[in-house]
Amino acid sequence: MARLTALLERTGNETVDIFQNCRPLSGRALSRHGDGNLMMTKTETCGVCGCRLHRGRDYAAASVAGRSHATRHHYVAERFFGRSANRRGEIRGRVFVRCPWGAEGKSQVFCYECHELVLHNPVLLPEDLKRLRDLVILSGLSERTKPAHVRKLAGRIELLHDIIEAGLGAVLRRRRRDNTRLERTGAAASHRKRSVVGAGRSTAGR
Ligand SMILES: [Zn+2]
Repeated sequence: MARLTALLERTGNETVDIFQNCRPLSGRALSRHGDGNLMMTKTETCGVCGCRLHRGRDYAAASVAGRSHATRHHYVAERFFGRSANRRGEIRGRVFVRCPWGAEGKSQVFCYECHELVLHNPVLLPEDLKRLRDLVILSGLSERTKPAHVRKLAGRIELLHDIIEAGLGAVLRRRRRDNTRLERTGAAASHRKRSVVGAGRSTAGR
């Protein structure tokens, strides 16, 4: 397998060959440049942060390469359908008979950081969990003793997705509104600055 050594990424003061020991991505074009090195002309990018991904032997390593390693994430966990990526072949009970979102088996590629650290470890503080508990009760999804069926579990998983969807919508609207306000403020300030400079010139010219 050809080593990709031509692509360098500058991070801070150090230059890191993030494609050292990499194997080319399937279906990706490689071309030889004038210096003889192979260059990957098409690259995958992370679905969250947008960083350039690579594949090699350094998954999860404490390095730029390890942190930007490609990794696939299922939108809806395979274990909800009775499958396990960690225990291949093992079939457990399905939480969902049919995927509520029509996304069974579908996935996307992310960097190690976004997949393993961000998506797998959402921060839930005590007050967040209290509000989640309130929502579980209000939605009729609480349990006194664990029942044989998993319908309420499925409901709690769907509820958490509803919360994430609503939160994303709310934060996105707020961020866009804030950015628009900042742009307007910045444009107005810039306009005022130009006016003052213009006024100064006209005064100086008298
Ligand atoms: Zn990422």
